[in-house]
Amino acid sequence: MKNLLVAMTLITGVSTAAAPQKLIVKLKEGVNAKSMSFFQNKSVNNVRDLKVSFGSFYSVTTDGLSQKSLSDLEADPRVEYVEKSQTYTISPLSSTDVEETIQDVKFEDQWGLKNTGKNSGFWIFRGKEGQDINAEGAWKFTSGTEDIKIAVIDTGVDYNHEDLKENMWINEAEVNGEEGVDDDGNGYVDDVHGYDFANKDGDPMDGQGHGTHCAGVIGALHNSSGIRGVMSDVKLVAIKFLSDAGSGESEDAIASIEYAIKAGVNIMSNSWGGGNFSQALKDSIQAANDAGIIFVAAAGNARSNNDKGSSYPANYKLDNVISVGSMAGSGKKSSFSNHGKKSVHIFAPGSGIISTVPKNKYKKLSGTSMAAPFVTGAMGLLLSSSPDLTPLEARERLEATAVRTKHLKKYTTSGRLDAARLINDERD
Ligand code: CA
Repeated sequence: MKNLLVAMTLITGVSTAAAPQKLIVKLKEGVNAKSMSFFQNKSVNNVRDLKVSFGSFYSVTTDGLSQKSLSDLEADPRVEYVEKSQTYTISPLSSTDVEETIQDVKFEDQWGLKNTGKNSGFWIFRGKEGQDINAEGAWKFTSGTEDIKIAVIDTGVDYNHEDLKENMWINEAEVNGEEGVDDDGNGYVDDVHGYDFANKDGDPMDGQGHGTHCAGVIGALHNSSGIRGVMSDVKLVAIKFLSDAGSGESEDAIASIEYAIKAGVNIMSNSWGGGNFSQALKDSIQAANDAGIIFVAAAGNARSNNDKGSSYPANYKLDNVISVGSMAGSGKKSSFSNHGKKSVHIFAPGSGIISTVPKNKYKKLSGTSMAAPFVTGAMGLLLSSSPDLTPLEARERLEATAVRTKHLKKYTTSGRLDAARLINDERD
């Protein structure tokens, strides 16, 4: 009995010493963190001011902080809120694991742009002619402009890929500036094509492949080789916060959104998700909305109903958030795709999508991660022809011009993306 008591005491002793954790603390406007005793707490071992334009956000790493210290912080009138840092991940569903060389890739493989019913690579359902985004119909009116800047917030982008290179954004001050110097004074050194928040440096090279794949769907060059993006002309800003292992944290997601706002992008493309509701992330996306920026998000690949669930960031109820589900070549919902009659705004191709991956290669991937950039590209075409739309007006037009199909109507507020109808505002 005595031994058992000793054992219980030990177990209790362990559980009261809180485990190390990372917090996001938002202070009220004008509060100086240095004036707060919390930040001098010996259990607080790393405080980073995120220095964002839309509030005072701090990332705090704690080592065994007591519940009382945490409660005192939450109750402090100078604190707006405290939340645990979250982990976000890419969510590709599957891959055919085929890396095709550039010579083997053809426009005819891109069923999402033009579904002939005979495109290669339908591996579950047969394709059906016309179940696509009607890209060729849209291109009669516009195929984009380099005035549209799109942030790919992901695992980075291979900015040297021969099918992407000319559509990458270039920070002129940095490319003409000095190495190791923040030439444009935006707070980031040597950010020529974007920034890497996962590794805190100016090189957002993609070591995973996911971000490069998304970038190709949006804006691969319309040249004689490889694939074509939804847009032939665009400027892609590579913002990496997901590591080469495919995951990233709250503070870097927030910093990525701030970077994109400062870079003056028109659209942010987000093929990632995870975690619970985060007020800090919601505040960041709201700030993007206030800056007139559309925020496209993958609905998720859990086969679940987002009306009942909580797939973030797709589920934030903000004017600029567009939640995208995935459609197969048959025109039906991809089996893996999340859906939601009230919460998923549109469906786009996401099964067996061929696109760019690092080192001048191409690969087929499936997921709402692939569907979201089709919508991003189509919104880029829309803004190329109607640049003055607000994010909310653009989303309403996206929903109103979607093709309502019997297969999709129970899964989304609208139907299937049709880029030509979107540009021309063709409604039923
Ligand atoms: Ca800079």
